[in-house]
Amino acid sequence: MALTDPSRRLEAMPPYMFAELEKRVADKKASGIDVISLGIGDPDMPTYPAVVEAMCEAVGINSNQKYPSNRGRTEFRSAMASFYAKRFGVEIDPETEVIPAIGAKEAIYNLCFAFLDPGDVALASDPGYPVYSGGPILAGAEPITLPLLPERDFAPDLSAVDPDDAQRARLMFLNYPNNPCGAVVPDGLFEDVVEFAREHEILVVHDNAYSETTYDGYVAPSFLATPGAMDVGIEVFSLSKGYNMTGWRVGAVLGNRDAIQTYWRLKTNVDSGLFEAIQLAAVAALENCSDDVQAMNEVYARRRDLTVETLADIGVEVRKPKGTIYVWAPVPEGHTSTSFAEQVLEDAAVIISPGSMYGASGEGWFRISLTTPDDRLAEALDRMRTHLA
Ligand SMILES: *Cc1c(COP(=O)(O)O)cnc(C)c1O
Repeated sequence: MALTDPSRRLEAMPPYMFAELEKRVADKKASGIDVISLGIGDPDMPTYPAVVEAMCEAVGINSNQKYPSNRGRTEFRSAMASFYAKRFGVEIDPETEVIPAIGAKEAIYNLCFAFLDPGDVALASDPGYPVYSGGPILAGAEPITLPLLPERDFAPDLSAVDPDDAQRARLMFLNYPNNPCGAVVPDGLFEDVVEFAREHEILVVHDNAYSETTYDGYVAPSFLATPGAMDVGIEVFSLSKGYNMTGWRVGAVLGNRDAIQTYWRLKTNVDSGLFEAIQLAAVAALENCSDDVQAMNEVYARRRDLTVETLADIGVEVRKPKGTIYVWAPVPEGHTSTSFAEQVLEDAAVIISPGSMYGASGEGWFRISLTTPDDRLAEALDRMRTHLA
């Protein structure tokens, strides 16, 4: 063993397959070509003014500059509980059923360390947010994928889970509205998940990163509003996408009280809590920004419509997603996800995400993010129409 060798757990992570694509992007940029990225999902518009104001005020106060407690400020826990009551009709005890997270990504990763041992299984939506499988691997456990396919409206087929895997499973990761598929939760799925989780004693982790980003009058539910969900599950809420706060690193884990206590116990060993000024800024976001969120969704809806119409012009037919900041679409005949992404880059100097980045079931698909300013998105779509139609 060399002194710089990674741990076996890190070594077990799947290889990064897209170095070649990234190299081509770098080469193009280096040769002066104006490459437009529709790849990453990171809101382009500023954090809402009320949040920035609250932060400016909180950051100068000495008591907010100290180590926070992992458990979170009372104001933060109360604001989260009130938001869940008002927005989702879910009753959360601010004392025991909510705790701040330093972003949803941290929460998902740490939940793996709180609940998984070697030999355990985590059921992970595929395609899905990469930490649903990377977290379990780093924790020494085994991710088993739950394919999300269009013929089932991107719901996993729970009856297809191998009984041995279900037996060994301790966690299940779900996410609606869904990244990357743009799907909203199909009717009855959450109810079936509660029953499945009860039968197999699995803790459900619903990643609720996109509940506030929806269109056409659709209002996304919380998993915790499903009867029985508080007995078997928790939800990870994030302010990153809906409040244009990706850089702030703020979210929360809510739901089953024993699961929250266990996550808290893990966190006391790992991090030193969420900056209190950010907790107070998040309170302002949750309490005062629903109009800003609505206005932002109108911007995304416009971009979504433009994207879906352009894709139709190049022969790619997709339904308009009712939520998230993504359009998920099948690659044209004769292409793989990567070969299509490469062609779009070569011909149009536009970056799209190959669906295979998000798991094996994403092969044959690509993802366009709607977080590029209007004029740049329009330019990228024009190029795609010109070069690919
Ligand atoms: C962006 C994203 C996250 C990350 O949220 P943070 O709070 O910024 O860590 C989590 N889950 C999904 C599905 C996402 O798309």
